[in-house]
Amino acid sequence: MFDRFNRKINYLRISVTDRCNLRCVYCMPEEGVKLLSHRDILSFDEIVEVTKAAVRKGVDKIRITGGEPLVRKGIVDLVEMIGKIDGIKDYSMTTNAIFLDKFAKDLVKAGLQRVNISLDTLNPEKFKELTRGGDIQKVFDGIEAAKKAGLEPIKINCVIKESDQEQDAVEVTKYCKAHNLQVRFIKEMDLETGEFGVVQGGSGGDCGICNRIRLTANGTIKPCLFSDISYNVRELGAERAIDLAIGNKPQSGHTNVTGKFYNIGG
Ligand code: SF4
Repeated sequence: MFDRFNRKINYLRISVTDRCNLRCVYCMPEEGVKLLSHRDILSFDEIVEVTKAAVRKGVDKIRITGGEPLVRKGIVDLVEMIGKIDGIKDYSMTTNAIFLDKFAKDLVKAGLQRVNISLDTLNPEKFKELTRGGDIQKVFDGIEAAKKAGLEPIKINCVIKESDQEQDAVEVTKYCKAHNLQVRFIKEMDLETGEFGVVQGGSGGDCGICNRIRLTANGTIKPCLFSDISYNVRELGAERAIDLAIGNKPQSGHTNVTGKFYNIGG
């Protein structure tokens, strides 16, 4: 399907939960967050129904996000249910890899093709600080498990303040080269002020060629991350919500004062 600016919309990012097993300082506030109630979170069948509707409209690229998708109970079953939908050519997940060593093999069996893994530093102390308590060794174990399982390519999402010449970014780049991983740099974003940049090594943030819509964990279709526009699939039905989202997709991002990264999925 094409939007009003003649951009082909073929990419659906699906947030399957607002929960996470880390508390990254640029994503979650220190005091924690008010999480969605169980009944507000879409069921597996509802997510599959929306995905099927999106695929009927030309979507062939699916990314599973969160919060942290691997904390959603039964995630492998959900990945399998979506993986069975005909027409998906590119099937990936963005994860913090803390649980990946446990799930990698089963995710591949369920049809997942590749992963993006968040890693902003190689320094264990700094990692613990940035994630408010995370153990970096679990990420390295997750990367090795993903390789062994055949998830390919493995891309590393490295959040930077300003430049890929920052010390942590340079070290992550060296690590990726040494381990045959692809690195992408994401400038810290701010939904409320509308601060964002084009993802270095990716296409995110490049509004002129934006091909994506998002499904949030509580069932809204968002045409743009940096916008407050959203359409509720439970109220409108999947087809109509997707049509309205693509039909009203803004030419470029502005600000988003209603959403949070952890319930939209970045
Ligand atoms: S800000 Fe909106 S239009 Fe721009 S790349 Fe992101 S989602 Fe697409």
